Amino acid sequence: GSVAQIYNFSAGPAVLPAAVVRQVQSELVSYKNSGMSIMEISHRSSLYTEMEAEAERNLRELMRIPDEYDILFLQGGGTLQFTMAPLNFAQKTKQIGFIDSGHWAQRAIEEARLVPGVKAKVVASAKTTNYTSLPKDPVLQKTYDYIHLTLNNTIEGTMYRTLPDLKNQVVVGDMSSNIMAQRYNVKDFDLIYAGAQKNIGPAGLTVVIVKHSLLHTTPELPSMLSYAKQAAKHSALNTPPVFAIYVASLVFKWLLQQGGVDEMQKRNEKKAQLLYDYLDSSSLFSAPVKKAARSTTNVPFVTGNAELDQRFVVAAQENGLVNLKGHRLVGGMRASLYNAMPLEGVQKLVEFMESFEQNIGG
Ligand code: PLP
Repeated sequence: GSVAQIYNFSAGPAVLPAAVVRQVQSELVSYKNSGMSIMEISHRSSLYTEMEAEAERNLRELMRIPDEYDILFLQGGGTLQFTMAPLNFAQKTKQIGFIDSGHWAQRAIEEARLVPGVKAKVVASAKTTNYTSLPKDPVLQKTYDYIHLTLNNTIEGTMYRTLPDLKNQVVVGDMSSNIMAQRYNVKDFDLIYAGAQKNIGPAGLTVVIVKHSLLHTTPELPSMLSYAKQAAKHSALNTPPVFAIYVASLVFKWLLQQGGVDEMQKRNEKKAQLLYDYLDSSSLFSAPVKKAARSTTNVPFVTGNAELDQRFVVAAQENGLVNLKGHRLVGGMRASLYNAMPLEGVQKLVEFMESFEQNIGG
């Protein structure tokens, strides 16, 4: 039978383009008429290497990644990058400057501090506003091995539209929750990383974009933890996550067909605007984040009454609007509007919120 239309607002793993999921289904048993599933194919076969090369090419086109950057398809999620970045790039002064914009930035700080000898210094923080805004630009009086920046704060719902002034420091960017949802200039970064499970594909794949010239400066490390060695082996030092890379390759093609990152950004702004406009006009719901810092991909909101929040989440779910419960750290609700969330999903959400508000208001 047919499944009722569900809109999945999860922060991750998140909704994928329906057309991509259908394509996966249609060629799951026999990839390119090989008689083998993509999951069964050798990562040394041309079927794989051609697919991987095309994925890289398409990602390069989508994000306008210059040739001087390597693209790596790794594992371990965004979280392993909290360790890999310090291991590879915090080896001169051993000091990293962190912009504390929220929970995931703090996780990056905690993990950096577990790397022997590394000092993580908070150079700017949004703590005083309870992370409802972005930190003020840091005053950087010395050179750090790098400055770490979280472009989109998935839990708090804040996002950088333009980068803070980081002088001539090396810059590492965590784009896990808005890669290809927002246009950034890759050249503003020396290292970019993103777990795949929001805007790219299945969990189990991490995309890393790294300036090639920096790889020569990295220390000798265990192979799996070394960007230089991973790059030298073209991300196939060991068996890569073939299925996840394959799904990502389909998402990249889908993104190109849709018009690419600029088109996605336009759609995301439209989707987010619709929801924020309603939240700002509602007398029941409100959005805690300051306007200038509001994320287009993660929209937290509250009623101010935890019991009512819970009733809303349950009622929404019964109406096909699922995974709206806020992160346990901030409570309330959160709607994640990643690239694959269609405008209709947000329209349905706002309609439902309006009717919920009317019924509560009596
Ligand atoms: N960084 C950001 C901004 C995130 O949103 C997340 C997960 O939601 C992570 C890092 C951790 O990612 P992973 O679960 O892939 O390790």
